Amino acid sequence: MLIVYNPATGEEIGRVAKHTSTEVKAAIDRTCAAFAEWSGKLAKERSDILRRWHDAVKADKEAFAELLCRENGKCLSEARGEIDYGLGFIEWYAEEAKRVYGDTIPTHDRNANVMVTKEAIGPVAAITPWNFPFMMITRKVATALAAGCTMVIKPAEDTPLTALKLLDYARKAGIEAGVLEVVVGDPKEIGLILTGDPRIHKISFTGSTGVGKLLAAQCAASIKKMTLELGGNAPFIVFADANLDEAVKGLVSAKLRNSGQVCISPNRIFVQHSILEAFIERVKAAVADIEVDQGLREGFVVGPLVNQLGFDKVVRLVEDAKAAGANVLMGGKPHAKGGLFYEPTLLTGLQDDSPLATEEIFGPVFALYSFKDEEEVIARANQTEFGLVAYAYTSALGRSLRLSRQLEAGMVILNSGSVGTASVPFGGIKQSGYGREGSYYGIEEYVHVKYVLMAGAQF
Ligand code: NAP
Repeated sequence: MLIVYNPATGEEIGRVAKHTSTEVKAAIDRTCAAFAEWSGKLAKERSDILRRWHDAVKADKEAFAELLCRENGKCLSEARGEIDYGLGFIEWYAEEAKRVYGDTIPTHDRNANVMVTKEAIGPVAAITPWNFPFMMITRKVATALAAGCTMVIKPAEDTPLTALKLLDYARKAGIEAGVLEVVVGDPKEIGLILTGDPRIHKISFTGSTGVGKLLAAQCAASIKKMTLELGGNAPFIVFADANLDEAVKGLVSAKLRNSGQVCISPNRIFVQHSILEAFIERVKAAVADIEVDQGLREGFVVGPLVNQLGFDKVVRLVEDAKAAGANVLMGGKPHAKGGLFYEPTLLTGLQDDSPLATEEIFGPVFALYSFKDEEEVIARANQTEFGLVAYAYTSALGRSLRLSRQLEAGMVILNSGSVGTASVPFGGIKQSGYGREGSYYGIEEYVHVKYVLMAGAQF
């Protein structure tokens, strides 16, 4: 039995029976059996069903938001935001289902017709993390189902309740058994079953780079296609010519979102040396007004970290930095509220090779570094094995273009702290993974391209 706790209070909020390996295999069997009928539906029929799912969930948005808040610890306003974000993917892919076009290619043979069609890749599987328990599910499921694939999904053990509630609403909307299955249980065992089954044609994984590598190795045996949305180490660069108020606003909202437990959270904040002091004062002023609290209330608050492991990691990173001589300008320790709450923290005097700079912090810690010029900061920003997102604030057009070309990341965000929405391709390069979710590009991950040459007839 999986016991689910509210990370803000420690109280038990639900129990979920773990699936045995036999039950997981039965879920795969159903997914495979459902594929022919689901992929054979008209795109419009799949679109209508997705739309019904969207509408049913939207009508109960508040109930989903409360569950999300209790299960994950993010505050109610953020939970509502995540639901809007996640519903956006169902809406987007209900439309995109109808636009999976092929091509005709000018023939190289007078007696042949040449065309390219796109076909659903087959039954697929997904494994998701706890930091966006709603959006991670809708983003993967809506894309797969729109393309005509059927899917088995394994949510994180900290947050299975939102996934199961989404499944319940999917069933009511006409997404039948087999078209979507949710399995809960031992991650290693389920991972081995999903990656080892040759009938599963693709794995979409969001989570840590370590587990992503393991799954990629397991998928190699059957040459499964993968989408890997892995860890990040986002640089957030502020040049002296930036609008400082906007930069502070963008930084604070990007950093404190979900208490910093976001793969695109600014991890290394580079500030041009001439504005460092002014920038620090503004960040301190902006953060001082923000409360740390459990999230079931109106207004933005910084919530707890999701579990003891995540909490201990933040404690370790900050303590190591302090021991190495970092200056603590704000916070720097567990919050007086106790439990899994950690103080919003601001540190300077850090080295580029410190664990705080090389590991994902996943906590409400602003780690500030100063730099002299553009060339230096681009080199330092790129000095990481990760390449998910890079942020920069500058008012210079030429510099913006150079940054967009030279920053090594799947996403470059200039003069904004906001990244995701359904209409854009989300994903990384380097050890942040490959493949894209969202937008037109997202659905391409779930189709085969088939070249058809039709000769032997008079055209
Ligand atoms: P994680 O430990 O990799 O877990 C992610 C998922 O993988 C969970 O469902 C987990 O199950 C499962 N899992 C763990 N070990 C497994 C194994 N051996 N085989 C199969 N599945 C396994 O990551 P996390 O700590 O939950 O999430 C944080 C990480 O995700 C961070 O690195 C973050 O950057 C990354 N992330 C990336 C993106 C992106 O889009 N690039 C978005 C969000 C998060 P259990 O929960 O049951 O252990």
